[in-house]
Amino acid sequence: MSQNIQSVRGMNDILPGESELWELFEETIRSWLKSYGYKPIRLPIVEPTPLFKRAIGEVTDIVEKEMYSFEDSLNGEQLTLRPEGTAGCVRAVIQHNLAAQRPQRLYYMGQMFRHERPQKGRYRQFNQVGVESFGFSGPDIDAEQILMGARLWDDLGLDSIKLQLNSLGQLEERAKYRAELVTYFEKYATLLDEDAKRRLYSNPLRILDSKNSAMQEMIAGAPQLMGHLGAESMAHFEGVQQVLRDVGLPYEINPRLVRGLDYYNLTVFEWVTDRLGAQGTVCAGGRYDGLVEQLGGKPTPACGFAMGVERLVTLIRESGGDPEPEGTDVYLVHQGEAASRMAPRIAEGLRDQGINVLYNCGGGSFKSQMKKADASGALFAVIIGDDEASAGEVTLKPLRAEGTERNEQKRISVDQVADEIMNAFFDGDDA
Ligand code: ATP
Ligand code: MG
Repeated sequence: MSQNIQSVRGMNDILPGESELWELFEETIRSWLKSYGYKPIRLPIVEPTPLFKRAIGEVTDIVEKEMYSFEDSLNGEQLTLRPEGTAGCVRAVIQHNLAAQRPQRLYYMGQMFRHERPQKGRYRQFNQVGVESFGFSGPDIDAEQILMGARLWDDLGLDSIKLQLNSLGQLEERAKYRAELVTYFEKYATLLDEDAKRRLYSNPLRILDSKNSAMQEMIAGAPQLMGHLGAESMAHFEGVQQVLRDVGLPYEINPRLVRGLDYYNLTVFEWVTDRLGAQGTVCAGGRYDGLVEQLGGKPTPACGFAMGVERLVTLIRESGGDPEPEGTDVYLVHQGEAASRMAPRIAEGLRDQGINVLYNCGGGSFKSQMKKADASGALFAVIIGDDEASAGEVTLKPLRAEGTERNEQKRISVDQVADEIMNAFFDGDDA
């Protein structure tokens, strides 16, 4: 006997019972983004591999070991399942010349793919919502993007997510710091793990970001970048903080918050919770003024962030924010030949009026159909038997208004059903 095929490890199905929460999350996301004027951009899941190598950087976890790459068997092109969204978004902005006329505020949401060791909060297929702005260079947009996060956590009822902030300054300012950092790490060469050794000369800032607990003490003692920033960088950083203070949003400056690549600059931030164990970062972002040019576009300041949907959904569930399972409006019970001929038309007529109908499929006795109606959570059963069919009527039975007069079932003409139901919605207390 052949074995059943299972989903790929680290790539999960999201089933009814949980998927409703995902939809609710997505609805919240869309109206939140709209309230800040962000426009959706829909991007391919597959991009040319060199795009990610250039945008994310060769010396990063993602490019070194996490990408799902393959050769297009038809033309030999090297392709990759997107591990994140910024690269594709920047490619599209350049390709379609989007930022030429006016600045852009864009967002995307969807699946990303990274070949990681699956564990809680870390999957091989996961979802991100990402926000990117192009053409704004001042600290105002950075601050606005940070405020966006705060508002979203609030909209989602999450109060455990805290803001960490840092500034990377500019490339030239980092050069001297980088040299100091390398000297420091060289002093502790025996404490460096494999990743760190490999990055010591190619991407030493990234070592600060290591999660290896054995290196934490050594990292904590490393020189800090802040002292190397010039007046302009400091003013930008101060501009971001000023807005946060004015609005009263608490933040912590974390000097170890870094990005390793040349085109990242100035603001970096992360939103972190202590409720998810080791995978506590739910959102990460910052400024990347050099990337558009790096990928062949005209120099364009840019700033963005991406959040991990699985981690947020887990947080929402754990804080009791699961939506009530929603029933339907009407369960349509029908039995007998004439009734069953009439039933689809009645169901469609109700749906014309915006009423949600669960239509009994697969036959069954009245009794078993009524059981299904009760179990469906519907507010009403619309019942059609031979009696009703020959009179051009239906029986309307409230299912969830026990103890009130509205509990009475009644026979009404087919034309009245929709009105009766709509009335019950508008004057009923369970509407
Ligand atoms: P980490 O340090 O946790 O590996 P990262 O730096 O690789 O994170 P980013 O590339 O900044 O993560 O992605 C932004 C967000 O996407 C993360 O903060 C996280 O919430 C989420 N994320 C990243 N990788 C995964 C994954 N494999 N599974 C689920 N969510 C993820
Ligand atoms: Mg990672």
